[in-house]
Amino acid sequence: MNRQSTPSKTATVYERQRLALLDVLRSRGIHDERVLSAMNAIPREQFVPQAMMGRAYEDSALPIDNRQTISQPYTVALMTQELKVRPSMRILEIGTGSGYQAAVLAQLGADVISIERHPLLSQKARTLLASLGYNVNCRIGDGTIGYRDGEPYDGIIVTAGAPDVPEPLARQLAIGGVLVVPVGPRDQQTLYRVTRTGPEAWTAEERGPCKFVPLIGRSGWDEAIGQ
Ligand code: SAH
Repeated sequence: MNRQSTPSKTATVYERQRLALLDVLRSRGIHDERVLSAMNAIPREQFVPQAMMGRAYEDSALPIDNRQTISQPYTVALMTQELKVRPSMRILEIGTGSGYQAAVLAQLGADVISIERHPLLSQKARTLLASLGYNVNCRIGDGTIGYRDGEPYDGIIVTAGAPDVPEPLARQLAIGGVLVVPVGPRDQQTLYRVTRTGPEAWTAEERGPCKFVPLIGRSGWDEAIGQ
């Protein structure tokens, strides 16, 4: 093997760490192998700040720009598993952040629109996702009002903590569509899976405790609080 075809040491280390992370996720109850193999295809180290790259495969949230976070891998896996993503499904994500969750959805073959309120984060995520070959429609704005141009959605995923289920999002679901959203006080939420069962009917199931940065906007927390 010549030097050129030898995989770089760093890449090999990341690959090993990624496989170890998948075992951690399995041991924590993630059973959807499609979700796990999608996560195995994505270089999470590229979605975190350079100083954090060595921690990219820990099962923890990490800081990104604008005082936001890239979600914990377990949470990404759980929320994606709850969405039951199939190829060509139309999915709206609220809270692009680093773009990692959007990459997982796109890797599963979904047609993804992702909204972020911080322009810098949206632009960085758009550039990174494109460089990795993911076709994600990144928009800047208040995602609590949804995105009318793409409705109805088969799935909506909110990756920031909401005070209540944002009604505009529930209304932009297709019948049979699923909204996965953390709801609760600012420092601790419960993950909900809301299914639209009819034109004016929804069911909600709890999916356990979680902790997200706040969802800020018209159907979220007050902008004046900041973050
Ligand atoms: N899915 C992200 C996690 C980002 S953290 C990832 O994989 O990295 C949550 C993000 O939601 C933050 O970037 C925050 O700025 C954003 N956010 C909060 N309120 C929002 C709103 N109303 N509309 C769009 N984005 C919002």
